[in-house]
Amino acid sequence: MSKDKKDREKMVAVQIEARGIKNTKVLSIMRKLPRHLFVPVGMKSSAYRDEPLPIGEGQTISQPYIVAYMTEALSLKKHEKVLEVGTGSGYQTAILAEMVHEVYTVEMVVSLSEKAQKVLVELGYKNVFFKIADGTYGWKENAPYDAVMVTAAPSKIPKELISQLKIGGRLIIPVGDFYQDLVLIVREKDGFREDKLLPVRFVPLVTTQ
Ligand code: SAH
Repeated sequence: MSKDKKDREKMVAVQIEARGIKNTKVLSIMRKLPRHLFVPVGMKSSAYRDEPLPIGEGQTISQPYIVAYMTEALSLKKHEKVLEVGTGSGYQTAILAEMVHEVYTVEMVVSLSEKAQKVLVELGYKNVFFKIADGTYGWKENAPYDAVMVTAAPSKIPKELISQLKIGGRLIIPVGDFYQDLVLIVREKDGFREDKLLPVRFVPLVTTQ
């Protein structure tokens, strides 16, 4: 077994399965997906560690456990369409692309989006669509979405993101300034259900207005 493969097996066993993630699809994707391709060259030996890592521009690739947790919490189905805000390294994007039919991903920092596009194209993903913009406003042209995942934290939940959910659609988002909660919103026929899942630390969702 190659070193990368061994590191991934261990990452999934120790950091993810042992902490209660059960979704078999999420576990098998994370055993397979080469996370080291999504981090800067000098950080490759740290790619499978139990922590977020810098990816440039003051941004980070999320900790593996948080990636697994957020993906599982969305209860995704193969035929679904997902919006991701904060492409970053593209690692979470690739996992979503394995889970569902189409992924629309928005990133504000040009260089990060371009780098992520390159890695994802090289890995052969054809169901990912990229946009360079302020994701606070979602991606209206392709709405509504079955699920929305936001990987940067606003101080309050942007209305546009909620309005781009289908009935039955789920939104997962870290909310807060210094202390943040990971929040899951489900859009129901006559309103929204909101659950606080977990205290987290994400980079801020930068807004242009
Ligand atoms: N899922 C990514 C997380 C990257 S960190 C990964 O694991 O690699 C969060 C990302 O959100 C950063 O790349 C940052 O540039 C981006 N971001 C911050 N505010 C944004 C906004 N308003 N619109 C789009 N992207 C934003």
